[in-house]
Amino acid sequence: MTASRLTGCEIVIAGAGPVGLVTALLLAEGGADVIVLEATGPAVQPEWRGSTLHPPTLEILAEIELADAAVRGGIAVEHLVYGDLEINRLISFDYALLEELTAFPIRVQYEQYKLLQLLRERAVAHPSIDVRWHREVIRCTNATDYVEVVVGDDRERLRAKLLVAADGSHSAVRRSLNIDMPGTTYPTLSLVAATDFDVTVGRCAGPVAYMSGPLGRASFIRTPDVWRIAVTTEIPAGDAPQLVASLETTLDTTLDVHPNLATALDLYTGGSDWADVGFRQYQMYRSHQRVADRFADGRVVLVGDAAHLASTTGGMGLNSGVHDAYDLVTRLATAPSLEQATAEYADVRRAMSLDVVQRATSAARAEGDERRIDERQARLNRLAVLAADAAAAREYLVGAAMLSAVPIRPGRYRART
Ligand SMILES: Cc1cc2nc3c(=O)[nH]c(=O)nc-3n(C[C@H](O)[C@H](O)[C@H](O)COP(=O)(O)OP(=O)(O)OC[C@H]3O[C@@H](n4cnc5c(N)ncnc54)[C@H](O)[C@@H]3O)c2cc1C
Repeated sequence: MTASRLTGCEIVIAGAGPVGLVTALLLAEGGADVIVLEATGPAVQPEWRGSTLHPPTLEILAEIELADAAVRGGIAVEHLVYGDLEINRLISFDYALLEELTAFPIRVQYEQYKLLQLLRERAVAHPSIDVRWHREVIRCTNATDYVEVVVGDDRERLRAKLLVAADGSHSAVRRSLNIDMPGTTYPTLSLVAATDFDVTVGRCAGPVAYMSGPLGRASFIRTPDVWRIAVTTEIPAGDAPQLVASLETTLDTTLDVHPNLATALDLYTGGSDWADVGFRQYQMYRSHQRVADRFADGRVVLVGDAAHLASTTGGMGLNSGVHDAYDLVTRLATAPSLEQATAEYADVRRAMSLDVVQRATSAARAEGDERRIDERQARLNRLAVLAADAAAAREYLVGAAMLSAVPIRPGRYRART
């Protein structure tokens, strides 16, 4: 990235999560000096969060030379598959249709914690990035020429030209600026379980299959180490914490496997052999559809989960945060002023969140959770019509692969080398 405007510019980033660190690395490669403040320590917990990397995200990771590691270490998915647990029909979209549009006509399943580990190693080693662990950003105050960042117990204060809030869904920076994040929280919890059992025994659906069914959606995703199965539950989200159960061990026979998970596995695999293998992890989580009222305020910008939250269906949350990072850094490097860069970033990325990502994830969630069999059949029929026509299938994949959600992309017109 050519980034003469960034040279020597000191930028503070709150949060050494994946989005904060992609921002830091892109900025540093462009010549900026960056300080990253992270509330926790350097150790990466192997928690189950995102695992999907869409083509534009791989293009961006290629800019910081991490795409190859993700592709090599991950599962390359060449077909996006939809089906139903009670209807014997699979609809498949071929990523090869995207060959002329992206250097990466695939989707890669690579666990977020492994990507985070790579990003942390790369950021810590970079001469222009100063990662400071155990520094919790408490609040910030905008001044005309700088933003003041207050850390920890108020004893440490930093002044920066720009503060990038990459401090996640509960962003202290966002709250300190009184920026609302309106939207909805889904009324029931979702469940994700990880198993060593090969769920493809009953079907030949490949590494990613989004299934509808009598109890709502069930997704079957192969990651390098395990299969991840996500289902809807009827457990109210209201008073449950984000994560209500986690098992590090194989199936404990005293654990009641949620009936929706058991039904999905029975129907998908055509039996109950999976129960003998059990689960490595078992987590419940809330899902939201929320977008911050504004993505910029003076010398502060919001990126990633600090700015927007979307249902995990379709795997767009982490990806759209990485897209924020690229958009912001490109504008900082090329716009005539910092004010113009942040204003444009805020407008474009908020519109993308609302008009593309929220719309796509809400629709995917609603369609996946449809329980009436005639509606499920009708949806498969609609998808089959699209998949049978190359132009329509390409257009569908452009949306599912988030190519329409990233107006500024690296190597957009570059052929794959
Ligand atoms: C169960 C689950 C499944 C998911 N599945 C998918 C998926 O399949 N695909 C997908 O794309 N997305 C998925 N997501 C969403 C994805 O995990 C998030 O979108 C992604 O983690 C956002 O990255 P981030 O860097 O913005 O925030 P985070 O990953 O939350 O990182 C924020 C960082 O900031 C630090 N921090 C917090 N507060 C402060 C502070 N005050 N000061 C300093 N540091 C602070 C935190 O310790 C953390 O390191 C899933 C999420 C969950 C919970």
